[in-house]
Amino acid sequence: MFLCKVISKCTLRLLLKSRFHRKQKIFIRLHSTRRLEEAYKVVKTKCQSKKLPKDVNPRAVFACNELDLKEVKVYGFDYDYTLACYKPSLDYLLYNLGRQTLIEQYKYPPDIKNLEYRPGFAVRGLHYDIEKGILLKLDSFLQIQFGAVYKGLTPLSNEEVLQIYKNRIIPIAYVEGHTKNASDSHTKMVQLADLFSVPEMCLICNVADYFEKKHFDYHPEILFRDIKSSIRNSHPVMHNIVAQNVSEYIERNDKLRQFFDRLVQANKKLFLVTNSPYGFVNKGMEFMVGKDWKEYFDLVIVQARKPRFFTDLSRPIRVYDERSGSHIWDRVTKLEKGVIYYEGTVKQLQDLTGWRGHQVLYFGDHPYSDLADVTLEHGWRTGAIITELTHEIATLNNPEFKKNANWLQMLTQLIEDHQDCEDPDEQKILMKWMAERDKLRNDIKYVFNEQFGSVFRTYHNPTYFSRRLFRFADIYTSNIANLLNYSVNHTFYPRRGVMPHEYISYFV
Ligand SMILES: [Mg+2]
Repeated sequence: MFLCKVISKCTLRLLLKSRFHRKQKIFIRLHSTRRLEEAYKVVKTKCQSKKLPKDVNPRAVFACNELDLKEVKVYGFDYDYTLACYKPSLDYLLYNLGRQTLIEQYKYPPDIKNLEYRPGFAVRGLHYDIEKGILLKLDSFLQIQFGAVYKGLTPLSNEEVLQIYKNRIIPIAYVEGHTKNASDSHTKMVQLADLFSVPEMCLICNVADYFEKKHFDYHPEILFRDIKSSIRNSHPVMHNIVAQNVSEYIERNDKLRQFFDRLVQANKKLFLVTNSPYGFVNKGMEFMVGKDWKEYFDLVIVQARKPRFFTDLSRPIRVYDERSGSHIWDRVTKLEKGVIYYEGTVKQLQDLTGWRGHQVLYFGDHPYSDLADVTLEHGWRTGAIITELTHEIATLNNPEFKKNANWLQMLTQLIEDHQDCEDPDEQKILMKWMAERDKLRNDIKYVFNEQFGSVFRTYHNPTYFSRRLFRFADIYTSNIANLLNYSVNHTFYPRRGVMPHEYISYFV
């Protein structure tokens, strides 16, 4: 009897104890989920009370590397998309000419003439997988940006992308080939790094989409090479059409003359090295600067065939006779102002002028063929003209964008700080936060470009394009005339970026 009483007392105590523990557990769980909800509220309130950052000046010049203009004695320029900025009508013209060549010379189905140019479909800097026929955006770690992968005009889901590439990161040999030269035919991917390639990408995607829908058996590499050749072969026709109707295709740039005047007054030397032919460049420069544009330049080299101009060791520089429009075979032993040259190499340019290294600042729009070799091989200083900055900065300056970008940052920190909780209820809250973060990331991407987002960023990393740009350009800006906002003695200082192991800010 006594034993029975003792046992039942013990059982009761145990029962009470376990009930208490359950209650305590429920209390702790409630308490911890409430803790997360409270933390969210606090961060959200803090975000809403924060002052939005000041607008970025769309006409500023941005520095990747310190550059003292006092040291620069010689200013060099590329022509297309550096001095000459084209209107969207040029994209349509190139697209239409390429499509016509594709039908007439390459015997593509005449139906493709109904495929119209889609402005804003692509952005520059994308990669095209010539083997698989896929257009995609890569970040600086060679990671594919999910949601920015297209076959024709159809976006591929994340599962489809992983099925095709087996991994989110693409091996470097696949992207850049085994050789230094990225345009080498061993590479499986080509990067479309200049603005002339934007209509080209649209034509590739339009025709691929047409083939897919018609269930035609086509080879993506043949399609790519045909379209590339069609667009390239269309350039001479494009040059004639633009030269006859300059104002329809080239943006007026009233400040260009003022910019050259200031450089000449400061005793700077000026030169032009362009791949385009003389007649085309001359018409454009007359339109933008005036009939006397050549007086500003100490040296003009046309049809330079960059990047070979910067990489070839020997290819004679030649004289172009402006009056007769013919090429002269005389050996060139000195470079004269007022004479038009073509071909040649940077070695001859340097040997015949004595312009070298950090005294030269060369501006171009193409991070590789304009800027990479001159900076890596010859130590020239470089400036990139990136027209897209106007749109990118206007987007950054939108208050809605600023709010979203700020909140994304703070929400990510919140997730990072609370991610280790194991309780299922807490996990549910975390999942909710992650979903909100995914939506925010997409909202931020779409405002730049619906398909591919910003030219400079994937969700959080720099793009493959911007990594190259920041490596090869000392400064970059949206328009060459923005340099007028700074004196000829200005020093551009790069922002001291924060490394992951450093303080977020020196001020609390
Ligand atoms: Mg160019």
